[in-house]
Amino acid sequence: MNIFIVGNPGSGKGTQAKLLAKHFNLTHFSTGVLFRQMKGDVAKIAKEFMNRGELVPDEIVIETFEEYVVEYNLFNDLIIDGSPRSLFQYQRFKEFFAVNSSKFNFAIYIKISDSEAVKRLTARREHVLTHEIYNLITNPPGPDIKVSDLIQREDDTVEAVTERLRVQKVPGDLLKEFNKDEILVEIDGERPVEDIFKDIISKIENNKK
Ligand code: AMP
Repeated sequence: MNIFIVGNPGSGKGTQAKLLAKHFNLTHFSTGVLFRQMKGDVAKIAKEFMNRGELVPDEIVIETFEEYVVEYNLFNDLIIDGSPRSLFQYQRFKEFFAVNSSKFNFAIYIKISDSEAVKRLTARREHVLTHEIYNLITNPPGPDIKVSDLIQREDDTVEAVTERLRVQKVPGDLLKEFNKDEILVEIDGERPVEDIFKDIISKIENNKK
């Protein structure tokens, strides 16, 4: 089973992707995390877009995605967190999987309002060593974590968040295509993490083909 998980910035897709990966024994692949960890010229270009709160150009995303999937043979049992971000990316991912005898079974779309997104994103912090993500409001670090080890990502400042929300909405044409392909699962993201998780699992279980 292969799954996409998409949502506007701050929707909690990364948190749900991790939980779903564990539950269904899937490989969790986040293009955002990959871009942040990559080294070299392509990574440098990608980071410039990310730090301005913009989307990384489609061609870079597609090439990086395809290389990674081939290198680690990830055509099955994959959960893709944060991609596709455009109809073009989706079409290319679909073709790429089809020629490798695979397909996508579900596109989980987690919905939240802009005001909730700003509140959550500006409270997000990343641990410098473990890269664990905390949220000062919804998922605060335990007493064992040093506050000085927590950093705010450059794309989580109020300025970058506002720009991300402006340019990074899940596009309507992408959602339409998911719907046409009968893989779209819409989820209300303004609920506790556990409730959202249970809702996604029951929708997947009820729709497994
Ligand atoms: P995320 O961790 O999914 O929020 O991604 C962090 C940043 O990486 C985004 O704000 C984008 O700049 C970039 N990014 C990640 N995935 C994609 C994608 N599929 N298309 C374009 N940009 C992406």
